[in-house]
Amino acid sequence: SQQIQFADDMQEFTKFPTKTGRRSLSRSISQSSTDSYSSAASYTDSSDDEVSPREKQQTNSKGSSNFCVKNIKQAEFGRREIEIAEQDMSALISLRKRAQGEKPLAGAKIVGCTHITAQTAVSGCLFGGLGALPSPANSKDAPVLSGVAVFAWKGESEDDFWWCIDRCVNVDGWQANMILDDGGDLTHWVYKKYPSVFKKIRGIVEESVTGVHRLYQLSKAGKLCVPAMNVNDSVTKQKFDNLYCCRESILDGLKRTTDVMFGGKQVVVCGYGEVGKGCCAALKALGAIVYVTEIDPICALQACMDGFRVVKLSEVIRQVDVVITCTGNKNVVTREHLDRMKNSCIVCNMGHSNTEIDVTSLRTPELTWERVRSQVDHVIWPDGKRVVLLAEGRLLNLSCSTVPTFVLSITATTQALALIELYNAPEGRYKQDVYLLPKKMDEYVASLHLPSFDAHLTELTDDQAKYLGLNKNGPFKPNYY
Ligand code: NAD
Repeated sequence: SQQIQFADDMQEFTKFPTKTGRRSLSRSISQSSTDSYSSAASYTDSSDDEVSPREKQQTNSKGSSNFCVKNIKQAEFGRREIEIAEQDMSALISLRKRAQGEKPLAGAKIVGCTHITAQTAVSGCLFGGLGALPSPANSKDAPVLSGVAVFAWKGESEDDFWWCIDRCVNVDGWQANMILDDGGDLTHWVYKKYPSVFKKIRGIVEESVTGVHRLYQLSKAGKLCVPAMNVNDSVTKQKFDNLYCCRESILDGLKRTTDVMFGGKQVVVCGYGEVGKGCCAALKALGAIVYVTEIDPICALQACMDGFRVVKLSEVIRQVDVVITCTGNKNVVTREHLDRMKNSCIVCNMGHSNTEIDVTSLRTPELTWERVRSQVDHVIWPDGKRVVLLAEGRLLNLSCSTVPTFVLSITATTQALALIELYNAPEGRYKQDVYLLPKKMDEYVASLHLPSFDAHLTELTDDQAKYLGLNKNGPFKPNYY
C-alpha cells in the first residue's frame, strides 16, 4: 500500500497497522457499504468513473463547493437511503428531541474521520441538531450529508484518503474544537501536521480498537495533550459489536458467499467468547451441529452448558463442513488442519483481522487458487480437493455482509453522548488521559433504544434502592461490569 511515511515517525505510530488491519479492526459503520452489495443496491454511478473526484468541479444544491464526493448528482438517492436508515435509528432522533432547546453541542466544531454511510449521515445531522457547526468529514465511502462538508468517496486510494483528511483539518476560517475519530488516522494527522490545532481541541472521541490502543500508547508516553473518550469499550457497544452483531451477520456472510444450507451441517467454532457465542447461537438455531474449541475452561464449560460439544480442532477437522475462527488469536487454523479438511469445507474468520487462519501457508506452488466469486477463493490440492476460503481469512462479516443499522445506532448514540460529555465537562473533570464513557451514559444509550421494542423498565422502589445501595436513576452496575 502507499501508506504515507513520515521522516520523523514517532514511536507510537511506527507500528501502524496496514490499511487492511486498520480497517478490519475498526468496528464501525461501513465496511458494509464498501464491500457488500446490499447497502447501495440501486446505486448506479454512470458518471465518468475514471476522473478522480479530486479533479471534478461540483456544486451542491446550496451552491457550496466545499466537499469532494464521487458524484453529487446522486444526492437524491443518498437522501432516500438516509430516510431508510433513520427508521432503525430512532434513538438518535429521540436524543435530538430530548435535547431540543438545549443544544448541548452549541459552538462545537467537529472534525470526523469515519466510514460515511447513510447511517453516518443520520448521526451527522444529529450533531447539527444538537448545535454543532457545519464541519468537514471524511471517509472511504460517501453519500452526501446535508450541512456537513464531506470529503470521501468509495474507492479512494491511500493518497486520496490522506488528502481528504487534510482537506477537513486545514480549512480557511474554520478550526475544529472536537475530534471524532475511528481508527486514529485523523488524530495521527493532526499530531503530525497541525499540532497547534490541539490548543483549541476540547477532546477526542475514538471508536475503534486500534485507535483506542494508539491513544493509550500516547497517554503512556505522556504525549496525549487533550482528554480522550474510549467509546469502543463501552458495554453497549461491546455487546452489540461482538455478540449481537456477529449473531446476526455470521449467517448473512456465509449465505451470500456460499449459498450454504445450515441444517444438519457440522460446524466447528474456535473460541467461545462473545463473538463465538453469537456465531454458535445463530448456527444452532438453524439446525447445524456445532462443535466448539476453547483454551479457557470457563468458556469451555459455558459451551457445554449451552449444549455444544467441546473438542480439539484436530478431532473434528476431517468431518466438519464449516470452520469459523473467533479467538482473537493467531494461527488457530494451520496448514496441517487445512490439509486434513474434507472436500468443499468452508473456512472463514470472524475474530481478529487476518491472523487466525494461516492463509500464507496456502500460498505454495502445489496449491491452485481459483477466485470463484467476490470474496470467495477455492484453494485446490493436487488430488482435486477444494477448500472454500472466504474473504482471504479477513473478517467475514465486515467483508461479506452488512452491519445492521440498529448496531450503528448504538454506536452513533454513544459517540454523540461522548462528544456532549467532553465538550461540556467542567475544567478539570477530564485530564490529558483516556476515559471510558461514564456507566450512567452507557445505561442511557441502552435506555434510548428500549422504546423501539416497547420495553418497559421496572423502577426501583426507595426501599429497594436503599437495600441494594443504588441510586434510583443509576448507575445500576459497577464500572467493571
Ligand atoms: P473473547 O476474548 O471474549 O473471546 C475469545 C475466546 O477465544 C476466548 O474465550 C479465548 O479463551 C478463546 N481462544 C483464544 N485462543 C484460542 C485458541 N487457540 N483456540 C480456541 N479458543 C481460543 O473475545 P471476543 O469479544 O469474542 O472477540 C474475539 C475476536 O473477534 C477479537 O479479535 C475481536 O476483536 C474480534 N471481533 C470481531 C467482530 C466482528 O464483527 N467480526 C466484532 C467484535 C470483535
